Amino acid sequence: MDSPVRLTASLVSRWGDDPWARGSWSLIGRGGSPGDRVALTAPVGGRLRIAGEATHPTRAGMTHGAYEQGVAAAAWAVEAGHRRVAVVGAGMAGLGAARALAGRDSAGEGCSVEVWEARERVGGRTYGVDLDGFTFDLGANWLQQYDDNVLARLAEELGLTVVATDFGDPLVLGAGSGGGGGRAAAGGVREMGLERELRARLDRAEPRAAIADVIEAWLPEPGEFTAEEIRRYVDAEIVMDSGAPLSWLSARYGFEPGVGEGDRWIAGSYRLIVEHLASGLDVRLGRPVRRITVRDDGVTLAGDGFSATADAVIVTVPLPVLREIDFEPALPPAHAAALGRLGAGRVEKVVLRFDRRFWPAHPAGYYRVAGPEANCVSEWLDATEADGVPTLVGLFAGPWLETLWAGTDEEVAARTAAVFREAAGA
Ligand SMILES: Cc1cc2nc3c(=O)[nH]c(=O)nc-3n(C[C@H](O)[C@H](O)[C@H](O)COP(=O)(O)OP(=O)(O)OC[C@H]3O[C@@H](n4cnc5c(N)ncnc54)[C@H](O)[C@@H]3O)c2cc1C
Repeated sequence: MDSPVRLTASLVSRWGDDPWARGSWSLIGRGGSPGDRVALTAPVGGRLRIAGEATHPTRAGMTHGAYEQGVAAAAWAVEAGHRRVAVVGAGMAGLGAARALAGRDSAGEGCSVEVWEARERVGGRTYGVDLDGFTFDLGANWLQQYDDNVLARLAEELGLTVVATDFGDPLVLGAGSGGGGGRAAAGGVREMGLERELRARLDRAEPRAAIADVIEAWLPEPGEFTAEEIRRYVDAEIVMDSGAPLSWLSARYGFEPGVGEGDRWIAGSYRLIVEHLASGLDVRLGRPVRRITVRDDGVTLAGDGFSATADAVIVTVPLPVLREIDFEPALPPAHAAALGRLGAGRVEKVVLRFDRRFWPAHPAGYYRVAGPEANCVSEWLDATEADGVPTLVGLFAGPWLETLWAGTDEEVAARTAAVFREAAGA
């Protein structure tokens, strides 16, 4: 008889508890709109500008959107005539801003830039972690909207190896598969119909409606789809891509573009891009900024045991962390109102290595597992080929995070491995 499958190594993310993230990426809550993202970018006192993924109207929640917003904020600072610029946060937005400003410096335009970063590392919500010879991304994994992605072009310039994932063709395992395992929603045509119908219903919703309101109205009369198909589709496409309660997400704007066809992940991790962007920059690590004062003649940043002055500041911290910074004077009412309608969800990741491969082969290398309750979902990338060892990367969203993510990393790894093993019938 075969010996039981053994989990040999693991990595676990903790974005929900991380004091410098407090969630995974920004989202639009009921009553909100992409206009709220734009409202956050209005300069304050001519000297402060908020950047970061949350401020991009069409590419929020993605690395290239964050980077673009950083570059745009740098252009604003230069145009406004600021020469000494502070950047808060060394994620994609902060690095994008700082690099654009440092570029001006080397062009002899006299800009100087200092980056203040809370963590002891750069990269923010991109986080490559080594596990016995391979680097896994515990934050951002894919270069999304690949053909129109400035970081994808950079990856190509740097000669990085990128690997495409076919999200459109996951193998559904466990309860959601209708037994044994099968392709999602009986193939692409039916899923496309479901998406069209869902989008049309969301577009027609009241401005203050939540996605849950639309789904609840649809389920009793599901039309050409079954209620189960609708639920599974919403879990896979909205819950998995947001990590937020459907009762909070805006019906009209909470289902934003993102994960899709042609997305590619970077072999060797996002770290390769981050290291390139950060090289040569003046980044002060371990410096959480707690207070930002904007005066007529400049700005002051203050943290635990340090303070600094500059002509202007670009703030790139995640939304939940932004709310904790003490702004003097307080952010203008339009900013505060926009902040109140935006929020962040929680999607967590695990990397699980096993002593042997026990799951069914699937050409797309992508698997979906529904949880025991509504809105509990996980998706899995088979990284065996890239890693050279039987390895799965799992993404989890929904209420089951409360119990799955309790306790030590080892406990989380064991629980999540059990979810997949049970679904795969191992
Ligand atoms: C699990 C997960 C999976 C994801 N998958 C993808 C994906 O596949 N593709 C994709 O494009 N995007 C993905 N994303 C989203 C992507 O990671 C983010 O949109 C992007 O990295 C955000 O960049 P940013 O610069 O706006 O913010 P961050 O990367 O969060 O950078 C902000 C920086 O500010 C620092 N900071 C916070 N508070 C302070 C303070 N008070 N003082 C000083 N510094 C501070 C933080 O430490 C951080 O370094 C994922 C995110 C997560 C969590």
